[in-house]
Amino acid sequence: MTDKLPRTLLEKALDLGGVEVARGLDFAPKASVQLTAINLHKRGLNVFPIPRGYKEPYLLRPLFFARLHRCGRECRIQHAPSFESIFEYQNIAVMMGRTSENLFAIDCDTQADFRGMGAELDRRGLSYWATKSAKGGHYFMRLAEGEAANNATLVGWKNVQIWGTRHFTVLPPSIHPSGVLYEWHTQDPYRLPIEEKPPLVSIQALDWLGVERATSGKKWEAPELLGLPAWTVNLSRNNRRILASAINGAITEGQRNFELTKPAYDIASLIDAGELNYQDGINLLEEAAEGVDYPLKDIRSTLRSAMNKNGLESARKGGKTQIAEWQKALEFARDYDWQGRSRHTDKAVFLACCERARLDVGAGSFRASQRELARLSNKTRKTVSKALHRLLQDDLLALARTDNSGANRFSFGGVTRKYPTNPTCSYSGVATSHQKTVKLPQTPAEKDVFGRLGAVSWAVYNYLLDNFAFSYKEIAEATKLNRQSVQRVLSRGKNTGLLIAHGLVIYNPAENSYKAELVSNEKLERISANLYYYAGGDYKSVLGKSEKRERGYTAERELRINSLFAGRMARDKRNYLNQSEAKT
Ligand SMILES: [Zn+2]
Repeated sequence: MTDKLPRTLLEKALDLGGVEVARGLDFAPKASVQLTAINLHKRGLNVFPIPRGYKEPYLLRPLFFARLHRCGRECRIQHAPSFESIFEYQNIAVMMGRTSENLFAIDCDTQADFRGMGAELDRRGLSYWATKSAKGGHYFMRLAEGEAANNATLVGWKNVQIWGTRHFTVLPPSIHPSGVLYEWHTQDPYRLPIEEKPPLVSIQALDWLGVERATSGKKWEAPELLGLPAWTVNLSRNNRRILASAINGAITEGQRNFELTKPAYDIASLIDAGELNYQDGINLLEEAAEGVDYPLKDIRSTLRSAMNKNGLESARKGGKTQIAEWQKALEFARDYDWQGRSRHTDKAVFLACCERARLDVGAGSFRASQRELARLSNKTRKTVSKALHRLLQDDLLALARTDNSGANRFSFGGVTRKYPTNPTCSYSGVATSHQKTVKLPQTPAEKDVFGRLGAVSWAVYNYLLDNFAFSYKEIAEATKLNRQSVQRVLSRGKNTGLLIAHGLVIYNPAENSYKAELVSNEKLERISANLYYYAGGDYKSVLGKSEKRERGYTAERELRINSLFAGRMARDKRNYLNQSEAKT
């Protein structure tokens, strides 16, 4: 058989008890590959098994997005297939890029290049992890600014490549098909303190080598951070300059409102794209506002309205027909007469579908796994699954097909598509106040609080952020809610409504008007700490609930990869275990 494993002396030794025996070292209870895998996974690296004696991996694509699951303290049960079992009798590899905290490798194909590169790195005082194999070796670091771009044509280094994204590298103690053992050139990470990761390096420090950031086509330009946090490399240079000037108090009072709006929009689009967390964004904007004595509540409200408009902004870069589809669906969701006891859930899941459609530009249909929808709508998967069933039944959604990752693809159904949209609306990127009312909660604190206070509270709160209102009727009409629901969250006196009770909406008796208070993240967290839900015979605070749920999704996603591997390895003839079974 052609795919029979090469039987080297070393491999026979491995059969007997692992690399330690082969190398005359202490015998370890688990095979060394398994220990290495656990150790490196703890350090944030995306490690995975590849068949011994072969260079082609079992699976690659799912690893571009997530790591294998290793049961930790937060797992109430030991999940199967376990991380350890997947590495049994395997070689080990590591995926470069964002799933490994932006790990990249300098791959040297010859011994001379390996030595030369080491000397260059040492001369510049750059630290690294390094491995060597028969031919040459690898240097590993993490890029501070993001994923490094792959580069196989480095100037002056003919046999050296940079691997930074969607590329993997084999690690020690794997065995090369030739029978040679991969080894650590620097100290075995196993001997390092567990919090230590591959050294972090800034892109400027690698200028001489021509390392670039992986971006969509655009050439990387070394940024001047101007003393701002590292993530601001993603902002335009002009916006960095504005923020830095503001922090130094170098913008006049007449200019500050106009100037600060620009970075606020830039930051909003990063938050929107999931590349920046809300808190980091608002912290920097507040620092800038403080520098020029600009009211903090105004800068928060600027960021907020920028985030509301951003969906239109970024989608404009996408295909035209797709824009019409999801925007039409948004308008539809706003005006549709949602019926039944679960109408708020259905609407939230439908809105989550709109968001998926917005992000999945140009495919005609959009991918929406239950996990993604559950996260966007802040509901459980079970709830989402039931809502999807109803949405499909009512022809608001249609099932397009299942994509190769196993997730469903949808398109908007006949009822949605037939909905007449306002022909005077030109989608110029200016959001109307109506569209603002159909946003879903975004920050963790918003999700925690409004996950408990409910969809009506969220809709009314959002409407009142942008509008003064003088009656329940007026609010009910604008938000398409019924009057009693509005009354319940806004009532004063005996059964005080939730929004009033938590100070999210202020009633002004002199004017008889309602207006929502734009509250800080801290205040939302304080509110959520005082909200409780009943579970497992106990009252628990909702603070951090959505984050906990989020962790649950990550675990599920990772576990799917464990199963994919186990399935593939069970079928793969190159797998060592399948080989021995075949012989008996
Ligand atoms: Zn687990």
